[in-house]
Amino acid sequence: MPKVNSNLLKLKKEYFFNEIEKKVLLKKQKTRNILNLGIGDITEPLAPIIIEKMKMAADEMKEKKTLKGYGPSSGYSFLKQKILDNDYKNLDIEIDEIFISSGMKYSLANICDLFSKKSKVGIMDPTYPLYADANIINGRKKNIFYLPLLEENNFEPLLFNKKLDLIYLCSPNNPTGISFSKQALKNWIDYAKKYRALIIFDGAYEAFITSKNTVKSIYEINGAKDVAIEMRSFSKKAGFTSLRCSYVIIPKNIKTLDNVSINKLWNRYIDTKFGGISYPIQKAAEAIYSDKGKSQINEIISTYMKNTKTLLLGLKNLGYTVYGGIDSPYVWCKCPKNLSSMEFFDQLLEKNIVAIPGIGFGKLGEGFIRFSGFANLETINQALANL
Ligand code: PLP
Repeated sequence: MPKVNSNLLKLKKEYFFNEIEKKVLLKKQKTRNILNLGIGDITEPLAPIIIEKMKMAADEMKEKKTLKGYGPSSGYSFLKQKILDNDYKNLDIEIDEIFISSGMKYSLANICDLFSKKSKVGIMDPTYPLYADANIINGRKKNIFYLPLLEENNFEPLLFNKKLDLIYLCSPNNPTGISFSKQALKNWIDYAKKYRALIIFDGAYEAFITSKNTVKSIYEINGAKDVAIEMRSFSKKAGFTSLRCSYVIIPKNIKTLDNVSINKLWNRYIDTKFGGISYPIQKAAEAIYSDKGKSQINEIISTYMKNTKTLLLGLKNLGYTVYGGIDSPYVWCKCPKNLSSMEFFDQLLEKNIVAIPGIGFGKLGEGFIRFSGFANLETINQALANL
């Protein structure tokens, strides 16, 4: 038998969300009336055009003439071209700077394989737990430095005062639901230039942005193409959480400190470790860029954002201190009466409401809880009534 990869033992014993799930399951044995406002997953059916195009693509597999075997590891150009023409119009991105992948989880977790184990990594606190876990598995537990997101700083990451090599920024951030100002992002780009650091920009919630003082793509900010990789997902934007499709942008000019092209490295990496995603899924993703697709997914996004608005205003009216909910479907709520996030979670569960304790997203998530607008309006209204 081989020995275990000891880095895996450095992860928290049980994945946090499993712990929450267990408590919810226990509650479900007592009541059928659980009001789930904790979900980070879609609740609305997919846009009809996605299903239609996926079926059509599956039908192509019936004929020798249209059959598809292995596809390109980095994705089909029909999808890349649509991404370029729609998401990166006028942003000077080239087609071979786009890599289609399964969910963003895959790319976020694996991209750190490209870099030296000694790289110093900056990760916001609180944020999506995957960035830290992936780097711990990669042997960088001691090289992780947390960038505090504080209430008094509108939950924007303050600049670090020493050199980092790799920085994960997520805007709009999960769980705070807040997107960073153009100035805050510009400061980080300047920092990355000064210290020759690489930014990995997670734009999973880009489709929900409505504020004017922010950007959807980091490449809208001057200088980003020299220092930033951007990742986006079709999961929340178009309901692909089960279908799995996302993409990574890696500008060709970005090199590691020892002068290796990151674009070429990633190409080599996915050729070995990843065989691309299925043709029907890529056809389904392409469909969201048609006029019909755009209008259908916009309608679904509006539904989530209307729900989120009801949640945000409802909580505010009940006297809670709340943040986010404008550029993402998440509302970041301060726990009342100095309760810990787990204590507040338990109190809510007594009222049949599920939300996610902030501590699950980092130490500085303590004292907050995340409510999600990925829910039905009736569920939200009932939860507000119970509160
Ligand atoms: N990034 C953030 C910030 C997320 O919240 C999530 C999922 O919740 C992901 C990435 C993962 O996205 P995907 O479904 O594409 O793996």
